[in-house]
Amino acid sequence: SSENAVIDPGSLLMQQLDVSRQGKAQNFERDLEGGRILRVRANPIPGGGVITLYTDITERKAFEKRLIDMATRDELTGLINRREFFTLATHEEERAKREGHVVSVMMVDADYFKKINDTYGHAVGDNVLRDLADNCRKIFRKTDVVGRYGGEEFSVMLPGAQEDMAKIIAERLRTSVAESIVHTDKGDVNYTISIGIACATGKDVRIEELLDRADRALYTAKAQGRNRAIFDTAA
Ligand code: GH3
Ligand code: MG
Ligand code: MG
Repeated sequence: SSENAVIDPGSLLMQQLDVSRQGKAQNFERDLEGGRILRVRANPIPGGGVITLYTDITERKAFEKRLIDMATRDELTGLINRREFFTLATHEEERAKREGHVVSVMMVDADYFKKINDTYGHAVGDNVLRDLADNCRKIFRKTDVVGRYGGEEFSVMLPGAQEDMAKIIAERLRTSVAESIVHTDKGDVNYTISIGIACATGKDVRIEELLDRADRALYTAKAQGRNRAIFDTAA
């Protein structure tokens, strides 16, 4: 079982010396070569010496990660889910307020998606959503928060991106998607997206309000014919 003690492959002598000298127990984790993870518990013995207990927690860690993934990830696309989007976006909101920087938000919605489902079937629709997520992963940065907001709608928060930058990135995503082809049994599928963008700085950064404004701009993009990115000018 994972509680079995594992032979220490490296040298933990220094820590043991420390524990012995300070007379204080130490608990820590060690990543081993080959990807296994050990929990090490070193306890001083009264009168000298140290008892060290090694537990292989590799499987437990993997299980914990699976649980966290299940709670925060969208299974279909691998993006974060709506709840996790709000958690991370709220952190970014607080950071923007503290540091006074600019934040952009995008609402991305697949065009005529119902028609794709109706024409090619739900499974192809799912593949289109995966492809849209792949395009997001390609275009956005590691520091951007990209989530599946619901259905065929994705939300993005871009810390540090001002209006012009957000427009450029949105246009990059729009073109990338318009050029991407989803191969299926029923032939190649093309699809497009519409994007609504909103922007705020420092104390004015409020995620709910930004999403509302981005949503309004998205509505305009749809009304103007779709396959376009529109910046919200209401503010
Ligand atoms: P518009 O251009 O105005 O956005 O039209 P639309 O057809 O994309 O918009 P609408 O909101 O009418 O349709 C969204 C569709 O997305 C309806 C729903 O069945 C489908 N959908 C939602 N979630 C999923 C999913 O996980 N997989 C698939 N295949 N379809 C989904
Ligand atoms: Mg749609
Ligand atoms: Mg929609």
